[in-house]
Amino acid sequence: MASYLRFENVTRRFGSFTAVNQVTLDIEKGETFSLLGPSGCGKTTLLRMLAGFDKPDEGRVLLDGKDITDLPPDQRPVNTVFQSYALFPHLSVRDNIAFGPKIAKWAPDTIKRGVDEMLELVDLKAHADKKPSQLSGGQKQRVAIARALVNKPKVLLLDEPLAALDLKLRQRLLVELDAIHDEVGITFIYVTHDQGEAMSISDRIAVMNKGVIEQVGPPVQIYEAPRSSFVAAFIGDTNFLDGKITESIDSRFSRCEVKGFGSIVIDNDKPVTPGDRIHLSLRPEKLVVSREKPKVSEVDNAVAGKVEDVIYYGSHTRYWVRCGEWRLCAEMQHRQYQLDESPPKWGDEVWLRWHANDGFLLEQY
Ligand code: ATP
Repeated sequence: MASYLRFENVTRRFGSFTAVNQVTLDIEKGETFSLLGPSGCGKTTLLRMLAGFDKPDEGRVLLDGKDITDLPPDQRPVNTVFQSYALFPHLSVRDNIAFGPKIAKWAPDTIKRGVDEMLELVDLKAHADKKPSQLSGGQKQRVAIARALVNKPKVLLLDEPLAALDLKLRQRLLVELDAIHDEVGITFIYVTHDQGEAMSISDRIAVMNKGVIEQVGPPVQIYEAPRSSFVAAFIGDTNFLDGKITESIDSRFSRCEVKGFGSIVIDNDKPVTPGDRIHLSLRPEKLVVSREKPKVSEVDNAVAGKVEDVIYYGSHTRYWVRCGEWRLCAEMQHRQYQLDESPPKWGDEVWLRWHANDGFLLEQY
């Protein structure tokens, strides 16, 4: 079955530079879908081609069974919320929301009903007669969201909508956005370079890098099973280890020699054979730091090292541990320690333990 929204082989060049390179992407009706990637990777360019502010050099954009590639922005059932809010400063909250419907010549009572419904949705009824300058940043962004939803678009585009807000407000607005999405049920496309935002709000995420899509999937899959080193490093923090497969233990586990570090057991997330060179991602929170040598099973790993750095974050502590040629980051929740056990300190000799399937096998080379 055809998807609700489809970018089909979309390419956009600026001179000799290719900002978006042959992107094909299928998005389902009602999804909250994020485009995530570093600055300059092409997310806004992709969004602009969906909104109609820009056109692909090659490829098509299809929405609800219609080719919209060449439609002007005002004829697309797509609205955008920008980071800068783009509100009219001289108009009240109510009139900002009513602006589009007035231009579209809705009947006055339909406008009133639509605006009231939106004020309710974004919880701004008490502020309806204020001007934008009398509102907080979060409230302004809620006006912008109400204004973009009043004419019931099929797709709402959110281009870094929270980037101008402080952390606490961003977290609150993310929860509110999620509730608004549940209420209106339309497709949300969210553009951000903040992996935390994308992880918390999305049904699925497309991770972009240099104009191409590296991986598409639900947040848990992107985090737990990154398809490339780029994705593993961009989504959260990770340690990378390079090694060479020395022995196949069974269909699931192999032994791997890591230079300057020794032999470890890995889970064969991908088929490997002795002699293969592999690249492994090991998330800091998967590593357990202890002073005592841990008891390990055949499919656990324990490596000795020395604490080189410790950073206390309140809810958890990060340790940077030197193990031969490698410096590994481990993250420990405080409750992981027994009450009578003092956590390791700078300079301590420690052990790092992890289970074979805590690592994730990336590229072979
Ligand atoms: P950011 O998070 O910084 O907004 P982005 O991922 O949204 O980044 P885009 O704005 O899509 O990135 O830009 C992708 C690349 O295309 C960038 O290198 C940018 O400089 C280039 N680019 C975008 N628009 C134009 C333009 N009109 N002319 C020339 N180059 C452009």
